[in-house]
Amino acid sequence: MRIAIDRDRCIGSAQCVLAAPGIFTQDDEAIGEVLPGREHDADDPAAVEGIEACPVGAVAIAED
Ligand code: SF4
Repeated sequence: MRIAIDRDRCIGSAQCVLAAPGIFTQDDEAIGEVLPGREHDADDPAAVEGIEACPVGAVAIAED
C-alpha cells in the first residue's frame, strides 16, 4: 500500500503538510506530494492525519 496524491484534484491548500510535515511536502506549483522514501508509510498515523486533513480528498491510500 502506498500514499497517493491526485495532482488534478489538489488545490494546493497545504493542509496535508501542516498535519504531517514528516510525510508530505509541496512541489514548485504548490501541489502536494509525498516526501521521498515515505510513499509506503500508509500505516503511519501521521499519514492518516494528512489524508483526513485534505479538504478535497486528493490524498488516498492506493494499492502498490
Ligand atoms: S491537503 Fe490536499 S489539496 Fe492541500 S496540498 Fe495537500 S493534497 Fe493538495
